[in-house]
Amino acid sequence: MPTHANFRTETTQLPPLQQGEALVKTTYLSVDPYMRGRMSEAKSYVPPYQIDAVMGGGAVGEVLESKSDTLKPGDTVVGELGWQTHAVVSADRLHKVNTDLAPVTTALGLLGITGLTAYFGLVDICDPKPNETVVVSGAAGAVGMVVGQIAKILGCTVIGIAGSDEKVAYLQDELGFDHAINYKTTENMYKAIKQACPGGVDVYFDNVGGTISDAVLGNISDGARISICGQIALYNLTQADVGPRAQTPILIHRAMMKGFIIMDYAQRFPEGVKQLAKWYGEGRLKSEETVVDGFDKTVDAFLGLFTGANLGKQLVRV
Ligand code: NDP
Repeated sequence: MPTHANFRTETTQLPPLQQGEALVKTTYLSVDPYMRGRMSEAKSYVPPYQIDAVMGGGAVGEVLESKSDTLKPGDTVVGELGWQTHAVVSADRLHKVNTDLAPVTTALGLLGITGLTAYFGLVDICDPKPNETVVVSGAAGAVGMVVGQIAKILGCTVIGIAGSDEKVAYLQDELGFDHAINYKTTENMYKAIKQACPGGVDVYFDNVGGTISDAVLGNISDGARISICGQIALYNLTQADVGPRAQTPILIHRAMMKGFIIMDYAQRFPEGVKQLAKWYGEGRLKSEETVVDGFDKTVDAFLGLFTGANLGKQLVRV
């Protein structure tokens, strides 16, 4: 588990603006579980963070100065600003946010990376059909919450797994999940999932891995599709995790399991944003966020992801 000792805050002088760059004042920062992976040298799909460098990460901000033809002062933008109150960034790495579409914070959540992860990871990989049973772990988080709502829109029966009674109640009462399970208070997750999914699990969207996924995989139906999105239960482990191997249920049930990294879908982001924004506009998709106030709370907000402090997308209002 990372601690405050892994981070420090510095005040530095930003470089002068070069042609094609913009000076951006950060308004909202995103903290994300993948950042934990980048705090490790283990082989991954992106290089690790460099010691003594600024923490990278997505953020929304306001352009203060611009030496680019595409951006002007006052524009709201989203991009890799990192954990900084101000950043000098090449304008071609920033996207203008259409603030008429939805609140600006959705550019980091529902209409941003986490919403797109839910959309493509569920629809493209699992192809859920009406009346199928969909289970999602990490269900009350940024990705999971959108997965469950999309599955409901597509006519599926949806079971969410989350870490508190409040989250379980929220998923059922506010988002219309058919059932939700608190994995922290449930003694036998295998039995709980079996009871909630009498016909088996047709689609499993995995955000957490570990023993929760073992319990779900023991309950899959013939032809099940499993999307491996994240393994947050394992990110802080110092030793390899050993559990029941998933291959047997996959073999017996002729199931398909596929991992994905959302940036592989970058070319299709406009299609995903269009669909998510349409559902949001129609009131069929809700955006839930937990926002902490103050740049100095960024590390707390990040660490809170590993204790389940957040409901929906965790943001920092700078
Ligand atoms: P969340 O908003 O879901 O925040 C993390 C949540 O994980 C916490 O709220 C907590 O909820 C839960 N959690 C923390 N520790 C554990 C644990 N040991 N066991 C079970 N649950 C735990 O984050 P995101 O929605 O941003 O990300 C969800 C997952 O998707 C992550 O694994 C992330 O790495 C992955 N991801 C993958 C992407 C890809 O391209 N493949 C892109 C974006 C995200 P609770 O109270 O329920 O425990």
